Amino acid sequence: MYICSLKLRRGACGTGCCDHRWWTSSTGPHGVDRYTELVEPTWTLGDSRAKVVAVRRQTQRSVTLTLEPNAAFRAGARFRAGQHLNLTLEVDGRRRTRCYSPANGENDRYVELTVGLHDGGLVSTYLRDHAHPGMVVGLNGVGGDFVLPASRPRRILFVSGGSGITPVLSMARTMKAEGADREHHLHPLRAYSGRSVLPR
Ligand SMILES: Cc1cc2nc3c(=O)[nH]c(=O)nc-3n(C[C@H](O)[C@H](O)[C@H](O)COP(=O)(O)OP(=O)(O)OC[C@H]3O[C@@H](n4cnc5c(N)ncnc54)[C@H](O)[C@@H]3O)c2cc1C
Repeated sequence: MYICSLKLRRGACGTGCCDHRWWTSSTGPHGVDRYTELVEPTWTLGDSRAKVVAVRRQTQRSVTLTLEPNAAFRAGARFRAGQHLNLTLEVDGRRRTRCYSPANGENDRYVELTVGLHDGGLVSTYLRDHAHPGMVVGLNGVGGDFVLPASRPRRILFVSGGSGITPVLSMARTMKAEGADREHHLHPLRAYSGRSVLPR
């Protein structure tokens, strides 16, 4: 099956066939995603998804996932440093959704999530034990008001606790990528397992 564009811009090719709604109504009752996902699970117009491209287990109680979002995710709300999103995956035949704050800079191509283990926690335990490159997850629901001010201050003190370090890392990485001459002081109150997961 040929799809002329995944950019979801209405009528981008002049015929209206780039419109997600056009494809959905033309391929009912299931919608186009139920066909294209059979070829490639991330090849969906409506469902925001991502493929796990790297997995790092830096401590015994955490796992860091590098995710490559699909076109449907990139066409949605733009992620800003400090915000969170919803990760959905299947655990023992049931879909589970949890909220995570990416640790990557806001203009990065890849989304990086560091998941700290919760004792008895369903999703964090599953990801710590089973996450692997090639795994496909749902990714949507970008939101949250904890973001950098548009006018960046020259000196910033970040104080975080536990997994709260991830949105702060995203902010620090974003400002580093912006390249301006600023002072960042990062004070993690407690890192996973007492061992720092800060990037080198
Ligand atoms: C805005 C936001 C951002 C977040 N960002 C991050 C992040 O970047 N990194 C991160 O690691 N986490 C983050 N979290 C937390 C994350 O969403 C999950 O809550 C966390 O991963 C635990 O999920 P889980 O499925 O492993 O645990 P769950 O299965 O949801 O269980 C959580 C805890 O409750 C206990 N529990 C479960 N069921 C019961 C029950 N019936 N009775 C008693 N106790 C029970 C479990 O033992 C466990 O300790 C964030 C949360 C929010 C709201």
